Parts: sequence; C-alpha cells; structure tokens
Amino acid sequence: MSEFVKTEHLSFSYEDEGDRQNPALEDVSIAVQDGEYVAILGHNGSGKSTFAKLLNMILSPDSGKICIAGREVTAPDFTEDDMFDVRREVGMVFQNPDNQLVATIVEEDVAFGPENLGLPRKELRERVDRALSMVGMIEYAQHAPHRLSGGQKQRIAIAGIIAMMPKCIIFDEATAMLDPLGRREVMSTMDMLNRDHHIAILNITHYMDEAAHADRIIVVNDGRVYMDGTPGEVFSRIDELHAIGLEAPQTTELFDFLRREGCPLPAGYTEDEACIDALVRLYEEA
Ligand code: ADP
Ligand code: MG
Repeated sequence: MSEFVKTEHLSFSYEDEGDRQNPALEDVSIAVQDGEYVAILGHNGSGKSTFAKLLNMILSPDSGKICIAGREVTAPDFTEDDMFDVRREVGMVFQNPDNQLVATIVEEDVAFGPENLGLPRKELRERVDRALSMVGMIEYAQHAPHRLSGGQKQRIAIAGIIAMMPKCIIFDEATAMLDPLGRREVMSTMDMLNRDHHIAILNITHYMDEAAHADRIIVVNDGRVYMDGTPGEVFSRIDELHAIGLEAPQTTELFDFLRREGCPLPAGYTEDEACIDALVRLYEEA
C-alpha cells in the first residue's frame, strides 16, 4: 500500500480572521492510503472544510507540505497542468447538491467533467453510462436534475466524479442537507465505491454513525488532529469525545451509561449487531 494523500505540518489562517487567536488549521499531519476509507470528524468550525479545500488546491497553506498521488502539490515547481492532473485523481463532493449540478439533463451533467479530458465520443458515452449505473441512476439519464431528490442529486454529482475515474473522493458534509433516505443512499454509495472499486474515501462529517463506516477516524478539534484511530479505538475514548463536545454513537453512549449503572456490558465501541447480542444476553441472565 502506498500513501495517496499525505500532509505534513500543514497550517493555514484566513487573512480576514481579525482578532481570532488560532489559525483555522495548525500542524496537521495525516496520511490516507490507496483505497482506504477515512472519516474526518469534528464539530462546526473545527477546520474540516479548510482541510478539504487545501487538498483540492482551492486554498494554499501558509506552511507545511501536501502530497497527492505521489506528487508534492505544494512544491514551487508544481504547475497548473499538474493541478489539472491531480484534480482528476481526487474528486470532491460538497454539501449543497444544487450548487454542483451544471447541466439541464442528468447525463450531460455527468459528462461535463470527462468532456474536458478530450476523450473519444464512444469512451465518453461508456464512462457516463457506467458512472450512472454505479450510483443506481441510469434510468434517470434523460431527466432534469433539478426535479430529483437531494439524495439523487448528490448521486448525480458523484457520478460526474466517478466518470473522471478518480482514485480518491473527498465528501465534505455531503449528506448534511439530505433527508434520512438521501443520507442512506449517499452513504451506501460511498461504501460501494470503496468496497467494490477500491476508491479511497475521505468522508468529512459530523455524524458518528457515518464515521463508524470508515476504516479509520481522524477527529479534529480547533484546527488540530485530536485523535486518529479505528472506530473501535476512537469511540472507546468517550470521555475525550465529550470533552470537545462530540458524542460516541448512540449505542456506545447507552452502553456507557448502563455500565456506570452497574450493568455487565462490554466496554468501548460495539457494532450494532453485537450490541443486540449483548442486550439479549443481559436480558436472559436477568
Ligand atoms: P468546519 O468545516 O469544520 O466547520 P471550517 O474549515 O469551515 O470548519 O472553519 C474553520 C475556521 O475557519 C472557523 O473558525 C471558521 O470560522 C473559519 N473560517 C472558515 N472559512 C473562513 C473564511 N472564508 N474567512 C474567514 N474565516 C473562515
Ligand atoms: Mg465544513
């Protein structure tokens, strides 16, 4: 395995921060491996979007290094052509689905990115159809995007990225504006892209249940990395999560509460299925 995204001692301040004490990001060093599924978790204002914009080169850091797909994007000799190449390898899905759709027909929207790659007509067609099939939206190819649900719109936005054949997709709170069904649609799309297509996923979220899908969770607070570990490791440190205003998943919180009340339940993070087993055992033993 090799590192697909790597940052070293990354720091960034917004110019118009006025009398703010802390920079938006400070000394952030993380790595995401090829094909890894990582969640970045943190409450509002913790620097998550700033981090995403640095990775996508919408912003450039005050100090520190960013490497993507083996290229140092912060190097002085990094050109605009290089940027074009890197952007093709790292797609981004943002919060508001309406801001990401550019065309009046779904398939034209999906074709928008890859059209700029100068592909032959046939390959473009194949890529668009494949991407729409992957997100389960092929039957909407001729529809008008603005008439779709939020979850469907996000899946169209994702299809537009898949059609570029990236190695990594960054989702910045991509489910925050969706209803529960839309959230589930987008989450299972992320899971599928990672599991079946080996696309690295960086899911920036404030939802615990979403973060639990990842191989690894990086918790950020006040622009710094606060924890970095598996869901099991991170969610077991419940007091430290509470200290920065976050909560563990509901079942972990419940088990923690019941344990403090004297119930013999397993400590730390337990996946949903195992939670049910533990509760059944507890009930049978009572
Ligand atoms: P998150 O995505 O975790 O909510 P952000 O990266 O958006 O956090 O913000 C990190 C910090 O930077 C916050 O304190 C926020 O107020 C500040 N910030 C974000 N965008 C700007 C901006 N365009 N100008 C000035 N300050 C900003
Ligand atoms: Mg944000």
